[in-house]
Formats: sequence, structure tokens, C-alpha cells
Amino acid sequence: MTGNITKRIEEIRNTLPPQVRLIAVTKTVSVAAMQQAYDAGIRDFGENKIQEALAKQEQLKAYTDIRWHFLGHLQTNKAKLALQHFHWIHTCDRAKLVKRLDHLLQQLEITPPNLLLQVKPLADPNKYGWTIPELLEVLPTFQQYQSLPIKGLMTILPLNISSQQAQVGFEKVRDLAQQIEQTHLPNVTMEELSMGMSDDYPLAIEAGATMIRLGRTIFGERSN
Ligand SMILES: *Cc1c(COP(=O)(O)O)cnc(C)c1O
Repeated sequence: MTGNITKRIEEIRNTLPPQVRLIAVTKTVSVAAMQQAYDAGIRDFGENKIQEALAKQEQLKAYTDIRWHFLGHLQTNKAKLALQHFHWIHTCDRAKLVKRLDHLLQQLEITPPNLLLQVKPLADPNKYGWTIPELLEVLPTFQQYQSLPIKGLMTILPLNISSQQAQVGFEKVRDLAQQIEQTHLPNVTMEELSMGMSDDYPLAIEAGATMIRLGRTIFGERSN
């Protein structure tokens, strides 16, 4: 099965507009399969568990041009490791975490990773992320966190929605980013929209995604 990884990556890449960054989501995927993806040109890898990611980073440390993306729910007590070991954190999903990241960055002498705010544009049982009104309300308070490079929005849509609903969801995120941009907060830009997974990424790209996060469509179904 892994023999298809190269071919799948090439097929996907042929359909992508040049401004879209393809992140290979490698939770539960072997290091050997990740090396194949690397050889096929992937430089962005997404993981959603800190411990699994650190073990893989250790094994892949010779590949110094990999950019690591944290995509999982970030517990406050793992925030420091996430700051130290990732180039992007896509899942800033609550004010307490944002405050913690700022506090840690004042102590750590590192270049901070880029941060994305996780938003839920549709009614969603997922307990993580802000609804659009919640995010608009909390965002001005983030001005106090000057050290945080907030670069855009991230979304995970609910499972089992229609493509019409998915399109609406992605467009709401895009419109929200435009609205936020107009507020001109000093440390907040909306350069990046991380949206689109294996089942819905063409719709996300149509709505303006700049990062898509693909697991199964590259590596096959996950066994666990
Ligand atoms: C697992 C995961 C993905 C990839 O999902 P696929 O359906 O396998 O493409 C993308 N984003 C996040 C946050 C994930 O946890």
C-alpha cells in the first residue's frame, strides 16, 4: 500500500493551485511512510499528539527542512513542548491557552511558531474551538499578547455534513478572516486559512484555503 504514496501525492499536487500548502497528516503513520512522502516532495507534516510527534521528529531529525504542524487539542501542560517543537500550532482554541502561550514565550528564548485560531463556523458537537461570535468577542483581548504571531484561522467541520453545508462552513471562515483583517489588530494577520481534509478539501480550496491537511487520501485508511 505504501507504494502508492508517491503516486497519490503527485496526483493531489497536480490539482492544487500554487498558493495552497499541502500538509501530510501523519498521526498513526509509520516513519517509513513519512520518508516516502518526504521523497515525493512533502515538507509539511501534521501530527496531533505531542509524544508521537516528538518520537518521529527524533527519527527524522536529519530532515532539517521539515515544517512540523501541531493539529491536535493542545493541553495547557503540553503547551511548552508544542512551542519548542513545532513551526505551526493550528489549534489555539481557548483564551486560557492563548494566555499560557504568551506567558511561556516571554520566558523561552525561541522564535515562536505561527499560530492559528480554531473556529467552528457551523453548529457543532465538537467541544473545541470558538464559534464565530465568541471569537469576535475575545479577539480584541489578544492585543495584550504582543509576542504571539497569530497568522490566521483553522477549522475542522463536523462529520457527515453535506457538501453544500461544508461549502457554507468554509465560506463563513473566509468571511470571518476578512472581517478580522479589517479590525487591524497589531499582532493578528489573516494570511492563512487552514481548512480542508481528505473528504472536503476541493471545497475548502474553492473557498480560499491556503493550507489543506490530508491524511487518508495520501496514506490510506488509519487502522487505529
Ligand atoms: C486527522 C486529521 C486530519 C486529516 O484527516 P483525513 O480525513 O485523514 O484527511 C486533518 N486535520 C486534523 C486536525 C486531523 O486531526
